[in-house]
Amino acid sequence: MDIAKNIQGIKAELPANVSLIAVSKRKPNEAILTAYNAGHKAFGENIVQDLQKKHEVLPKDIEWHFIGHLQSNKVKYIAPFVFLIHSVDSLKLLKIINKEGLKNKRIIHCLLQIHIAEEDTKFGLSPDDLAKLLQSEEYKTLENIKIKGLMGMATNTSDKIQVRAEFAALKKQFDIIKNSFFKDDADFDTLSMGMSGDYKIAVEEGSNMIRVGSSIFGERV
Ligand SMILES: *Cc1c(COP(=O)(O)O)cnc(C)c1O
Repeated sequence: MDIAKNIQGIKAELPANVSLIAVSKRKPNEAILTAYNAGHKAFGENIVQDLQKKHEVLPKDIEWHFIGHLQSNKVKYIAPFVFLIHSVDSLKLLKIINKEGLKNKRIIHCLLQIHIAEEDTKFGLSPDDLAKLLQSEEYKTLENIKIKGLMGMATNTSDKIQVRAEFAALKKQFDIIKNSFFKDDADFDTLSMGMSGDYKIAVEEGSNMIRVGSSIFGERV
């Protein structure tokens, strides 16, 4: 695996408005450093403890993205430094992130994870839950979080038509939510969708942030 070459190859094909998160979960620090030394700064992890360890020893200007299911009691470990949490799926979790943001005197950027896939193993809010959350009085009081956009994962299937339809549905949700709740808010601008197997379709359907692991670092064991 030529990590630097893989990153450059993916970036060369991406439209200028799409950012690439290199998903380094279960990959060693050396692999991350190879990408970093080639000029890449944005990495994604899905386990709090791993993220914490990597943040401790790796260069401090890395932007760490948390992309996994986040337990409330673990927010405090990443709150001081996390760049963007992609996987907020409840008001309860958002409130805890806000509390930790306040403690750390920062505004923590978040995406709301939307359930678009067919499998019910994938976490995320339904469109109904999403609207309820954004309409709630409690949400309006949260000053140490900032909702930057939405995140979603398509069904893990070789049926490209289904994958495309799911991404298109998420983009539609994004536009509806933007118009209903963030109309004059230029900071609500991020739609995180697409992984190694489906990011090209995701970008065609309107993604502007892709999360790619195995196509950069090789298969995980
Ligand atoms: C692992 C993971 C990715 C990257 O998956 P690849 O198929 O290796 O590109 C993207 N998003 C999330 C949420 C993940 O857990």
